[in-house]
Amino acid sequence: MENSRINRTLILIHYSEIGLKKGNRAYFERKLASNIKKALKDIEFDELKRDYGRFLLYLNENSPVDVIVERLKNVMGIAHFSLAYPGSDDIDELKEQVFEKIREKEFSTFCVRTRRSNKQFPMTSPEINRIVGERIHEALHKPVDLKNAELICHIEIYNKQLFFYFDREPGKRGLPVAASGRVVSLLSAGIDSPVSSYMMMKRGARVIFVHFHSFPLTNKASYHNAIKLAKKLTQYQYHTLVYLFPLIPIQEKIILNAPMKLRLILYRRMMLRLAEMVAQKERARALITGESLGQVASQTLENIAAISESVNIPILRPLIGFDKEEIIELARKIDTFGISTEPFDDCCSYMVPDNPETKAKLREVHRAEEQLGDWKQTLEEIYKQAEVVYLQFP
Ligand code: ATP
Ligand code: MG
Repeated sequence: MENSRINRTLILIHYSEIGLKKGNRAYFERKLASNIKKALKDIEFDELKRDYGRFLLYLNENSPVDVIVERLKNVMGIAHFSLAYPGSDDIDELKEQVFEKIREKEFSTFCVRTRRSNKQFPMTSPEINRIVGERIHEALHKPVDLKNAELICHIEIYNKQLFFYFDREPGKRGLPVAASGRVVSLLSAGIDSPVSSYMMMKRGARVIFVHFHSFPLTNKASYHNAIKLAKKLTQYQYHTLVYLFPLIPIQEKIILNAPMKLRLILYRRMMLRLAEMVAQKERARALITGESLGQVASQTLENIAAISESVNIPILRPLIGFDKEEIIELARKIDTFGISTEPFDDCCSYMVPDNPETKAKLREVHRAEEQLGDWKQTLEEIYKQAEVVYLQFP
């Protein structure tokens, strides 16, 4: 047994909701393991093993611990994780090893908690807690608090290994990306849609992005910012496709033929239709937008109904009940706020009136579309002009 002892630093990775999904558990675990490996693609480590409802990531001398910690913080589906150190099964050595690590930490109270699944081990858990605890207490003069310790030293003893750890790094929780299927997100260069895309990733969706621009009638800033945002979000899903479409051909038709008040609604309906075409091609099952009820004129219930009616695929709006402040707070947290507030020309504000329709009637919308001529043909042409950008992380 001594020869096969595992003597490496490791990271214990606990997952969140996955544990609850009885039937799908193996599937989610496989997805999470594969995502952890993708997140660490360029990083050296020994192996990733599944172990009773958690993962053990074994490191080696060349593993950059700080980088690994940063990467794991962004892997959806991880509840929390801890850096663990190999310990000796000689209790005198073990208490010194624990002491060496704990002396570097700041805390007022502590306790030791041992879990022993190797019942051959010569001591019981309470005995180990007491011996290690005493060593720390005598050297550092810090009190033990069994209920509300500020720092907990966990010791785990298995047949082939013994390790100890202190802190838990919180993970993102949620579900592993790609476990829930694919969605197509309408990504403007604004604040909201990157946040709604992020929320879908957190629920296990792989997000494909679609962006519309009015270049060359506006500048190309929105186009570049959308790519920057998609790049930022790729750190959560590792591979990303961004479809970039010129909206101008259909906007020209709308500007020439439709009532001014309905322009914005018609732009939106055309965007959704193009996004639906992308969803069909990419086998995605829903469209995502960054809409929030009542935030702007186009986001009244009436207009949401008039816009949604243009497609058959479900449209999900993760931010529908959020205030702008809440969205901004999230945007700061995921670090998209800076890019989203860089100036850009929005294709939707291109030639729209100051007082757009806020209560669109479907009958009028349909009539306006009939007067556009062959808009389906125009959408086909736009679809053919898609530029597709592929992004990767790391
Ligand atoms: P955002 O901050 O996401 O731009 P917003 O509050 O500015 O949202 P709107 O401009 O009305 O709201 O857009 C509503 C939603 O329509 C956006 O969240 C996005 O999903 C989609 N959308 C708007 N403009 C574009 C665009 N140019 N390309 C792709 N999607 C867009
Ligand atoms: Mg916008």
